[in-house]
Amino acid sequence: MARTLVIDTIEAAGRSFSSGKELVINPILKKFMIHFRRGKTFTNKKKYTTTYAGQYGFDWLRDEYIYPIVEVTHDNNGVAIKAKKPLCLDPTALKTEYLDTSIKPHGSDYYPAWISIFPHTTTKEFEHGSDMHEKGVDLNLEIEELEDLVIDRTTLSFLCGNSLVKITPEKLNLKDLIGTAKIKDLGLGNKRKYHLAENKINIKFKGGTSGIDEEVKVFAELNGTKEEVGKLIIYKTNEIPKAEIVAVNVITTNNKTIIKDDYQFLFKNQSFNQALVRAEVKVDTEFNLVELEKTNPSIGHFLKNVKTMKSKDIKKDLVDFYEKFGEHSPPKGSHINYIGTKGTTRTYLFYTDFTAGNVLGSCSLDANKNWGNSYIIYKAGLEDGHTIVHEAGHSFGLPHVFQGGSYAGKHTFYHGYTDNYMDYTWQLGRPIDSKDLSKGFYSSGNNKYKGKMFSLFKWQWDVIRKDRSIIEKY
Ligand SMILES: [Zn+2]
Repeated sequence: MARTLVIDTIEAAGRSFSSGKELVINPILKKFMIHFRRGKTFTNKKKYTTTYAGQYGFDWLRDEYIYPIVEVTHDNNGVAIKAKKPLCLDPTALKTEYLDTSIKPHGSDYYPAWISIFPHTTTKEFEHGSDMHEKGVDLNLEIEELEDLVIDRTTLSFLCGNSLVKITPEKLNLKDLIGTAKIKDLGLGNKRKYHLAENKINIKFKGGTSGIDEEVKVFAELNGTKEEVGKLIIYKTNEIPKAEIVAVNVITTNNKTIIKDDYQFLFKNQSFNQALVRAEVKVDTEFNLVELEKTNPSIGHFLKNVKTMKSKDIKKDLVDFYEKFGEHSPPKGSHINYIGTKGTTRTYLFYTDFTAGNVLGSCSLDANKNWGNSYIIYKAGLEDGHTIVHEAGHSFGLPHVFQGGSYAGKHTFYHGYTDNYMDYTWQLGRPIDSKDLSKGFYSSGNNKYKGKMFSLFKWQWDVIRKDRSIIEKY
């Protein structure tokens, strides 16, 4: 259809003049979608802004998970690929995970992003609220073109049915969000034209909670035509479970083990907070094997042999010793080493300055593939925040994102390509021994997110919250 592309002189002389954008008279709403995307930064309650590092939960269907954008060197069995692949092994299942059939902007499938933020409340409003996200979170908006956009009078309104959700601003002009469109190559001849508008919208949850996932809906409007073009889903806020961690400093020499000093901050503010779980070190204790050795020959034997022992044997012995001699071992009849009906809800973090080959840390797993309640951080992992959170993630029921077969999580990805806490910091290369994969694999390079792997996916938030170590009511 032919359109009149006439410069609107009134607008040109006013608002739009300063931005250098000239409005055109466009009577028909153009076709586009709005996607919420995670901001690059986060501002804390003291107004201090830092780079995003897991301070709130944000998840979306990443392009590279479903389109062949990133080159994968090897599959998860070490077979060479060296081609661009969707990073998720089953992109269709992943799309189904995120698809929201209640919205179809201009007839297109839509995959809303998810955010999890703590409700900012007084104790009277809700005793498990937090001021962690008092300033809200600033999000980016991605405007995806379904046809070429022009600078016109299209407005966007952001609406939520729950007034506890504070959206700032509630209205934006499309023309202030778009410039020259960027083009993203999605592989196999697919391309996307889009505009990225950074830090355009702030979302807060204040004054109470919600027992449902709230929705922020985006409506585009021009000349009386209105279309729902986007959505953000806010994870329900009425239950803030907790996880109690017993941190055990395992002393094997005359010195105490030194662990990364801010790991408790990581638990509370940069990892499990994304699942709206408070993971707190409830007991900070010591387990002095040097002292115990004097009266227990079995511990002396263990200390003598530990240098040549395998991680799984070290873990078993250490946990057995702690169940017997530990000051904060669980009540008689319960176990910290595996999940059983009599198991404890506490999670035991053992950290030690002995080594187990090149193993950084390890979490217990029983014969029924249930993750246990204890994990060990060895010398090589003591200063490694990723390992300390990653192993705790296992203890809360999360497998690796690349794990296949019967241990697989809900979705499986190639090894070493995501920014997820449950991924590895290196890409899987060829096997050390192709006839025996249990001997391990060479690395084919670093995960490009190494040092910045702060994500937990929405479906992992759900898994963590269902783990038996999580205390729902308290
Ligand atoms: Zn692991």
